[in-house]
Amino acid sequence: MEKAYLEKALGDLINTSPGNYITRETALRPDLAGMRIFDEPLIGYAAAGDPYFAELKKPGIIGSHFMAPREWLDSAETVIALFLPFTEQVKAANRKNPDWPADEWLHARIEGQAFQNTVCRHAIDLLKGQGFAASAPMIDSRFSQTSPVTADKNEQGYYTSNWSERHAAYVCGLGTFGLSKGLITRRGIAGRYISFITSARFEPDQRPYTGVYDYCSRCGACVRNCPAKAISLETGKSHPLCSAFVESTRKKHAPRYGCGKCQVAVPCESGIPLPLFS
Ligand code: SF4
Ligand code: SF4
Repeated sequence: MEKAYLEKALGDLINTSPGNYITRETALRPDLAGMRIFDEPLIGYAAAGDPYFAELKKPGIIGSHFMAPREWLDSAETVIALFLPFTEQVKAANRKNPDWPADEWLHARIEGQAFQNTVCRHAIDLLKGQGFAASAPMIDSRFSQTSPVTADKNEQGYYTSNWSERHAAYVCGLGTFGLSKGLITRRGIAGRYISFITSARFEPDQRPYTGVYDYCSRCGACVRNCPAKAISLETGKSHPLCSAFVESTRKKHAPRYGCGKCQVAVPCESGIPLPLFS
């Protein structure tokens, strides 16, 4: 299968699927009916045997519970990662109130997640239809997420899972981590990631970076934006503080929840920030 064929099929789905638009029935406000959630994706490719996937099994990165691509799929040749940027409508709405998530952002997290699963299923069907094996860890019954795994309130492994969309996107060349622990791509940090694993062989992309945090300028804007004071230039991100705040939004908006103030009104929102000093 050609990359162009796969990318056109995924782009068409994202542009035209009703799942990428808020329906009148689910809209939190009448004016949000028809709101588009995601713009067109960035797509990156990595070899299933890329040594970086083995690195992710090391303690302090993800850990031994991380399942490498060939543990998900014996015949895996390629990992394909997508960054789905939120639309300007979603981002602009979440810039307005610095203390509470916008309705648009709540939709993007929940209806957005449902659509991410649709994209995964569509990609798997497409690849299988061409005679290849394919799996998407996010919707695989073996996917597991554990929390909390430690009493250490700043422990990076506080929440952990056996696959990481952000790490897969990093290996696939889409971007590097920010202080807020999102992944900064050339289209920014505000959006969501999905990935799938296939026996189809695609040319891996060259990662245009060497360091895990290369694209983060350490400007501190996400520190100042965070209503939970969960991010610090000295100690990074406290997952428990972040989660407690996000849970507080769920109490009001269940089944929806969210925050994302570290992803909007920051220099990395929609692109790679300029270095502070050059
Ligand atoms: S806001 Fe600044 S410090 Fe925070 S992740 Fe983005 S570039 Fe890095
Ligand atoms: S999602 Fe919200 S609470 Fe969590 S780190 Fe970002 S700004 Fe802070």
